[in-house]
Amino acid sequence: MPFPFSVYSVCSVGNSPSQLPVAIIGGGITGLTAAYRLARQGHPVRLFEGSDRLGGSIRSERCGDWLIEAGPNSLQQTPALAALLTELGLDSVKLTARPESKNRYIVREGKPQAAPTSPPGLITSQLFTVGAKLRLMREIFTRPRTRTADISLADFGAFHFGRELVDYGLSPFVSGVYAGDAAELSTRHSFPSLWEMEQSHGSIIRGQIAAAKAKRARGEPAGAPPIISFTEGLETIPLALADRLPPGSVELNARVTSLTPSERGRPWQLNWTRDQGTINESFASVILALPAQALANLVFNSPSGPRLLSSLADIEYPPVSSLFLGYRRDQVAHALDGFGMLVPPVEIRQLLGVLFNSTLFTGRAPADHVALTVMTGGARAPGLARLHDADLLPVVARELDALLGVKGDPVFVRRNVWPRAIPQYNLGYERFLDAMTAAEAAHPGLLIGGHVRDGIAMTNCIASGEKLAARALATL
Ligand SMILES: Cc1cc2nc3c(=O)[nH]c(=O)nc-3n(C[C@H](O)[C@H](O)[C@H](O)COP(=O)(O)OP(=O)(O)OC[C@H]3O[C@@H](n4cnc5c(N)ncnc54)[C@H](O)[C@@H]3O)c2cc1C
Repeated sequence: MPFPFSVYSVCSVGNSPSQLPVAIIGGGITGLTAAYRLARQGHPVRLFEGSDRLGGSIRSERCGDWLIEAGPNSLQQTPALAALLTELGLDSVKLTARPESKNRYIVREGKPQAAPTSPPGLITSQLFTVGAKLRLMREIFTRPRTRTADISLADFGAFHFGRELVDYGLSPFVSGVYAGDAAELSTRHSFPSLWEMEQSHGSIIRGQIAAAKAKRARGEPAGAPPIISFTEGLETIPLALADRLPPGSVELNARVTSLTPSERGRPWQLNWTRDQGTINESFASVILALPAQALANLVFNSPSGPRLLSSLADIEYPPVSSLFLGYRRDQVAHALDGFGMLVPPVEIRQLLGVLFNSTLFTGRAPADHVALTVMTGGARAPGLARLHDADLLPVVARELDALLGVKGDPVFVRRNVWPRAIPQYNLGYERFLDAMTAAEAAHPGLLIGGHVRDGIAMTNCIASGEKLAARALATL
């Protein structure tokens, strides 16, 4: 116990606030990116992580020839992310999704059907009826509109593409990304690009054609950004960022409990605890890269009140169980020729979806074996994420047999449960965004970002870390 029952103060006498380090609270991908970028610009940083490891939701585990991802399994590589990975020297260990993973299966009437990936593919697709395909094609004639109020993704999708496309396209996609419920998610906040396309083009199809043209004009490759990971999994990125921080800049098992905002030229004061000891340090500014509940719990010694962000405790974070299963190849009848399989809520089954890990990237399973990750729970069936292993495994075995022809017991099992997995950007989310904006406006030098504010995907969180660093530099 290094600091038993004590209050330490790290003295800052004589330092002007701008010479002091920037405090980064939260050692997930957002906080690490911000810390890396600030340090690289030559500014001192101190990063506080409440747990005993860095990376937050990103955790990769190598077990012999199996490679297990506890949280995210892949990410989309934007040009900015590609540049960062090159800067970090990670190009030689980067993996691009294998061409065999191009298909995306969606379950319809108990059978996995490949989702169309191109206009000709739509015509021959078994996933949608002729009526749904004609309805989809009509969307191109939708006129631009300025909505005065937000709308759920399900209603937005039904307006543009019809109910069947929502049930067998949008809803399973939303389960795959947010583990969320399309009837609750806000279009404006969960998929802002769709919201903007409707305003500027009316039709989402026309908006996508225009976006593709603009990309080509910028010299960027056509099509969706590549899906990537690394030979040792996604944790490679947080580990690489952490490795490049100056020695002594990271504190693990360091839970930040309270903050005293800067006032009249005095720096920010921050209290953090390890074991039973509390330590006080001074900072030029403070970056918060935390989950909503942690933001809500922070105590601000501020005239605006001690719990500036308490409303964020109301953000819904459903639980998700990620069950990694290894099988001999001959135990699985399905070709597993895709990224994975999503299960629409209308099919009333027990799974959110299954990732075909060993198809997606090389090096995920031993020779002649396959690796699957089964996701359960989410906003629509939180109870399934909370089941004990002994209750969940037989349910999953029945579903995998019915949908993919999986026979017998797995040869490898690893389960990770996330009691609060992903924040739901549901209708009304602007109240939480407004609370964060107001807290920043009231306290210069306070910067808030990460998955609660800037998008839930890893790529969004990395971009958020970059933006936080740029904003912090601008305030110094
Ligand atoms: C099961 C699952 C699957 C996912 N799949 C994908 C995917 O395939 N692709 C994708 O792009 N994204 C995916 N995501 C989303 C993505 O992983 C996260 O949104 C992202 O990693 C969040 O990063 P962050 O840094 O904002 O927050 P976090 O990773 O939550 O990091 C916040 C950190 O703050 C620490 N902390 C909390 N309180 C305190 C305190 N008081 N003091 C100090 N530290 C504190 C926490 O311990 C944590 O390490 C998935 C997420 C989950 C859970």
